[in-house]
Amino acid sequence: MFCDIDLDARGRQIGALRLVHSDDRHAFGHVPVPIAVLAGTSGPTVLLAAGNHGDEYEGQAILLALIHELDPDALAGRVIVLPGLNRPAVAASTRVSPLDGMNLNRAFLNGAPPGPTRTIAAFVETVLPSCALVADLHSGGSTAIYADAALATRTSDTDLHAANLAAARATRLPVIQVLGATSSTTSLNSACAAAGVPMVAMELGGGGRIDRRSLTRGREAVLGLLAHAGLMCGSVPPPAAQRMVALKHPQSAVVVPSDGIVEPIVTAGDSVVAGEAVAVLHHWREPRRPPLRLCANLSGLVLAVAARGRLEPGDHAALIAEDVEEDA
Ligand SMILES: [Zn+2]
Repeated sequence: MFCDIDLDARGRQIGALRLVHSDDRHAFGHVPVPIAVLAGTSGPTVLLAAGNHGDEYEGQAILLALIHELDPDALAGRVIVLPGLNRPAVAASTRVSPLDGMNLNRAFLNGAPPGPTRTIAAFVETVLPSCALVADLHSGGSTAIYADAALATRTSDTDLHAANLAAARATRLPVIQVLGATSSTTSLNSACAAAGVPMVAMELGGGGRIDRRSLTRGREAVLGLLAHAGLMCGSVPPPAAQRMVALKHPQSAVVVPSDGIVEPIVTAGDSVVAGEAVAVLHHWREPRRPPLRLCANLSGLVLAVAARGRLEPGDHAALIAEDVEEDA
């Protein structure tokens, strides 16, 4: 993949990675994956990405604005911005790439076969060794709405684990989700862990639209990370109150047992206790069946709720994350 801007030059550059892919639509040309670099005086490099999943709009809006608003001359370092990382999925407003059906956030560390999605992941992997910090902005996309959260990967490297948690704190987002044993091993988080690079992912609402509060929090989180990495000076705000949680069991998911219309009772960010109803399932096929209460299996934080009113067996009505200690 060819990059049409010089990532080592100072100033503001906005260009594209040329993703060569030959199919009926792209036989002659390339898919332009947007990239920007904002570089001031010498200093650390921070990589910011959004559009890893194409139907998650909050991070794309935040980064598309910041590539114009950040003053490169005010930066003590370099920011590389990939505001629509999985460009084919962004163009289609889909989670996975329409070109090869692959999920970019499962394509790192050779998690996908050769193809356009793996090519994008491989490019990012070549940049990681030069980075002091990486942030990847997600949301619940079309299917879910998340509590605004910073996601920090737990690693066996205790220094890296501490750096990941410090970055999550610097976002000042209200929830920190610690990623561990049940998380994907081929995500961008995993690639950063393998490269020894501190990284934080974010979940910023979702539902196939943009929530103003999530957008504002995400923007402040990105600016906080740039200050945390030493690229922007200014007063350091006091620590924010952040609830630390993890998904440790399959029972975290409140699973829909049959096709139905789901009436939510809780909202992402609420607290629940085990046995408490989080949604009501209405059997539209069998109106003689009374509505079924879907209950939390665990006590904790409602990390995410379904964004759709109609769900099928196996869909999740909600995700309940358990509170964990700082060193979890
Ligand atoms: Zn995502």
